[in-house]
This record gives sequence, C-alpha cells and structure tokens, in this order.
Amino acid sequence: MLVQQILQAKGGDGVITITPDMEVSDAAKLLAERRIGGLVVSEDGSKPDGILSERDIVRSLAMRGSTCLSDKVRDLMTPNPVCCNKQDSSDAVLSRMTDGRFRHMPVVEDGKLIGIVTIGDVVKARLEELAMEKDALQGMIMGH
Ligand code: AMP
Repeated sequence: MLVQQILQAKGGDGVITITPDMEVSDAAKLLAERRIGGLVVSEDGSKPDGILSERDIVRSLAMRGSTCLSDKVRDLMTPNPVCCNKQDSSDAVLSRMTDGRFRHMPVVEDGKLIGIVTIGDVVKARLEELAMEKDALQGMIMGH
C-alpha cells in the first residue's frame, strides 16, 4: 500500500501546522484539543521546518519543569524532520519510523506539506492489507 492511499483513507481537511514562534503551552493546548500526538512546525505553513511531539514537551517538563511551557516551539521541536512522499510504500515508512524511533511523518510533494501519517495510520493500513491477502488466499485454497 502507498502513502497516497493511506492519506485518502484518512480523509480530513489538510494538516494542522504551528509556527516556530508559538508558545509551547499553546501547542500543548492544540495537541489536547485535536487529540493528536504531534504537530508539524512550519514558518510559511507549507515547508516542514520541524516537528513537535508530546514527547518533546513531556521530556522538557521533566528536565526543566513548567517554565518550558512559555518557551517557543522552536526551542523544543526536532528540526528538519524525516519526511516521506505519497509514492512511498507503507512498509518503507514503517521501517523508517521504527529505525528512527518516531511515530509521525510529514508527507511532502515538491518540498511542500501535503499530509501527515502516523505509525497508527500505517499499522492500520498494513493490517487491512494483510486481512485482504488472507481472504484472497483462503478463497484460492477453497476454490472460490
Ligand atoms: P513521536 O514518537 O513521533 O511522538 O516523536 C518522538 C521524537 O522524535 C520526538 O523528539 C519528535 O520530535 C521526533 N520526531 C517525530 N517525528 C519525527 C520525524 N518525522 N523526523 C524526525 N524526528 C521526529
């Protein structure tokens, strides 16, 4: 399965981005409101400059306490996130996420953000694919 198909299945209306000069407390509010675990950081709303995950906030809270909530997103984000494109396979994306130990990946086309896939999206797609393969194989064995 391709990233393109995963994005289609997800539907929705685009990707939420935040800017690097936003306060971490506002980013945390957005994560909570949207019930998501990561936000793409973009100065111009199109090129992914970084990614801010709930893990970055939790790590900083543990190290520095609640003062980190008034930091800027640029201070906590991971710059230059690993991205994929819509022609990448779900397997390739899953290995990159597993190797890099992260769960979010912005999808870009010509350097511009067109979506985001999470490890949950990719695993869901892979499980559906495996279930279809199993049904097809069972059908062949049973002669349907
Ligand atoms: P996550 O598992 O995605 O919540 O993030 C774990 C850590 O990896 C955090 O420090 C994130 O900022 C970072 N991270 C998340 N996604 C990416 C990515 N696509 N490329 C590089 N780092 C990332």
